[in-house]
Amino acid sequence: MSSVDRRTAWPYDEHGEPGAFTYQRYAHPTGAAAEEALGELEGGRALLFSSGTAAVTACVFALCRPGSTIALAAGAYFGTGVTFAQFAPWGLDVVEFDQTGPPPADADVVWVESPSNPLLTLPSWPDLRDHPGVIVCDATASTPVFLRALDEGADVVLHSATKYLTGHHDALLGALVTRNPELGEQLYHARMRLGLSAAPDATAMLLRGLDSLELRVRRQTETATELARRLADHPAVLKVRYPGLGGLISFDVADGSERAVETSIRLIRNQTSLGGVRSTMESRHRWEGDRIPVGLLRLSVGLEDVDALWADLGAALDQL
Ligand code: PLP
Repeated sequence: MSSVDRRTAWPYDEHGEPGAFTYQRYAHPTGAAAEEALGELEGGRALLFSSGTAAVTACVFALCRPGSTIALAAGAYFGTGVTFAQFAPWGLDVVEFDQTGPPPADADVVWVESPSNPLLTLPSWPDLRDHPGVIVCDATASTPVFLRALDEGADVVLHSATKYLTGHHDALLGALVTRNPELGEQLYHARMRLGLSAAPDATAMLLRGLDSLELRVRRQTETATELARRLADHPAVLKVRYPGLGGLISFDVADGSERAVETSIRLIRNQTSLGGVRSTMESRHRWEGDRIPVGLLRLSVGLEDVDALWADLGAALDQL
């Protein structure tokens, strides 16, 4: 990988005019290269942000006005709803809907997540295509390997690139991609004016991550498919959710048993976040409350050997 240009400002040209890069908050060379690469994968103009949450914030600022309504997929990443709630004093309304069916007809923005984290439902694209509002799809857990949401009918794709796109649990980064030039400019201005820009080092981690993205997520899918099958056969497991793609599985044990499982895994790390090369698992009720079952565990499958992962998980479940 070429070296990261960390300058915050670049000299004007010999006529005293700004060149391609002037000030880091507007754009910087490593970020531009990473945007080019991600834009190619998604088929649109990509913009990078300091986190997935910064990308959510830019969307609200650019796409909504006081009195606007966002229809948010129920069971989507809980932090997205928490971020939207910060805008309630500015007159943003949020309604939840079941993304496996049609969204509310009068919503200004429809926000889906494919698959939703951690309930792992998929949006119904035929119900979204005719909607007059702006369709935003959080495709963090699908990645462009399994979903090109702009081709499906989304106006804007969002990624917490902190997860699969960078892939190593060492960069905080968000991304938006759109094909609509006007939306692209609005989102760019939101980023620049609100100071939501991505740091050069984090964007370098995206360039690194994209080199192995397809290999990683295909292997994670293969392993997750097998683990979901073995989990479904285990007597201590009450329910398994796996959408058939990607490395995320959520499964339920009896309420109150989840802590015993997550504290006895050894190879799988008991920590938050997802999408890295190392497997991670945690119970989610502590963060999300009663919107999800108490006994729900979310497993993000990494690149470890499938039998080693099952030995770890199976032993933790066998004690119940
Ligand atoms: N979207 C999804 C699906 C997520 O899982 C997350 C974080 O967990 C986010 C958005 C927010 O991203 P970040 O933590 O990079 O701000």
